[in-house]
Amino acid sequence: MQAQAENRFDLLVVGGGINGAAIARDAAGRGLSVLLVEQDDLAAHTSSASSKLIHGGLRYLEQYEFSLVAKALAERDVVLNSAPHIVRPLRFVLPHEPHLRPEWMIRAGLLLYDHLGRRRAHTLLRSRRADLREHVAGKPLKAQFETGFIYSDAWCDDARLVVLNALDAQARGAEILTRTRCVRAQRGEQGWRAQLRQNDSASRHIEARALVNAAGPWATSFLDKVAHVPHAHSLRLVKGSHIVVPRLYEHHYAYTFQQADRRIVFAIPFERGYTLIGTTDIEFTGTPEAVRIDADEIAYLCAAANRYFAHAIAPADVVWSYSGVRPLLEEEGVTASEVTRDYLLDFDGGAGAPLLNVFGGKITTHRRLAEDALDRLAPALGNTHGAWTADERVHLPGGEFADTQHSSEEAFDRFLLATMRRYPWLPADLAQRYVRAYGTRVERVVGAANTLADLGERFGADLHQAEADYLVREEWACSADDVLWRRSKLGLRFDVKEQQRLEKYLEGSPQ
Ligand SMILES: Cc1cc2nc3c(=O)[nH]c(=O)nc-3n(C[C@H](O)[C@H](O)[C@H](O)COP(=O)(O)OP(=O)(O)OC[C@H]3O[C@@H](n4cnc5c(N)ncnc54)[C@H](O)[C@@H]3O)c2cc1C
Repeated sequence: MQAQAENRFDLLVVGGGINGAAIARDAAGRGLSVLLVEQDDLAAHTSSASSKLIHGGLRYLEQYEFSLVAKALAERDVVLNSAPHIVRPLRFVLPHEPHLRPEWMIRAGLLLYDHLGRRRAHTLLRSRRADLREHVAGKPLKAQFETGFIYSDAWCDDARLVVLNALDAQARGAEILTRTRCVRAQRGEQGWRAQLRQNDSASRHIEARALVNAAGPWATSFLDKVAHVPHAHSLRLVKGSHIVVPRLYEHHYAYTFQQADRRIVFAIPFERGYTLIGTTDIEFTGTPEAVRIDADEIAYLCAAANRYFAHAIAPADVVWSYSGVRPLLEEEGVTASEVTRDYLLDFDGGAGAPLLNVFGGKITTHRRLAEDALDRLAPALGNTHGAWTADERVHLPGGEFADTQHSSEEAFDRFLLATMRRYPWLPADLAQRYVRAYGTRVERVVGAANTLADLGERFGADLHQAEADYLVREEWACSADDVLWRRSKLGLRFDVKEQQRLEKYLEGSPQ
């Protein structure tokens, strides 16, 4: 089955966001030879700009998107089990207000949400009503919020999820090329010929029996300008932005604030010491790489938080922000926040070599999307391996400490304890950060170190040379941004000089 020659592959995947990385992983695990190309860093675009929730999407119940919610909730369990280091349960508090639906109706919606999500019931707590005058989550809110509803979803480090999918794809034989753009793709009867350009240097020409277009917000421009293939679907690009402020409260709950314009804004505990607030929904017509938050969005998000929290915030409190473009499937006559978040896989196997276009999708459903994609592609490539990624025994790299006897949180705590015993010299905060980010791969980061000093130079915050070296050697990191804003969020704790020092160090690293 595997195409052996160096420049011949079964599958070329264009795009190293979550969808491309997950498809590469699934395909490699089925024994196909795979090349994934990403023009920037892995997760450089939409896949590091999400709200980072693995969720069914409570608000989609109101839009009667039951099948999307059920599919997403089923995935929540699978992803919690496969990557319990970077994915963790999160409890949300929804304060009740007169402009919302009546209490009984919200309660019924949450019961439905619990029911749709009940596969391994022990993993997540069920929803309930809470008296916010008594509950800890009521403390930071204005006194008028007396009643709330508490429900479960999950949180995920989106950018690391992409890297872990790419790592697993590579471990199963795929070639992963970052900073490599597919500049030309030509379809033949038997396969595709593609021209790849790395960092504007010399071109590489490859052949692939099938092509996956997982270019996210670029998916249609890839078809128009690179592959020159006509297509029936168009994308609606919808910008979403988040702000980060010093933490507004100490506890671990997140909040779901339904705005008077019916949009939902989340406030989520972020990176020990911060609160993440988002998102907006704004039609976007520019080029995706030019997406930036604007002053109106910052003002909107501050006002959204100020409607609920007793402590008011202002644009000057914002320490970081990010924006991304949702590549949504175009639907006529609906607003930006109403466009479906479900995905469409457009398989074109007719006129020549197979082409699969990915339109839309969510971080939450990436694994299922990849499985569906391979179920379409595999027959065209004569592959009979079958689906494999939903198996409870299959984990993303670092997640192997999960077991079926314990919830993902219990398994995490047990592994953290074991790691602290193994490396008693690691400060507790650092051990916790390493285990959250790397899981069982912590040993690849620490290497042969026996003391903190053995981890080498400290660049800033708690980033040591050993971790930076690991990220360059094993996780495709090339620049300070790759390390500080995607492989971690240590950028929040680095000053400009420290960033420059790290950048200089990475420029000298063999990559
Ligand atoms: C504000 C916001 C909040 C969100 N919140 C959530 C959430 O909480 N939960 C959730 O499940 N989902 C969420 N999503 C949705 C989710 O983030 C996206 O659906 C998902 O990240 C899309 O991934 P992708 O791989 O399709 O696109 P991308 O991540 O953009 O990846 C596409 C990649 O293709 C590359 N590329 C393009 N053209 C080429 C070429 N010619 N050669 C090589 N590479 C190329 C690009 O550089 C890019 O990295 C959110 C999205 C946004 C914007």
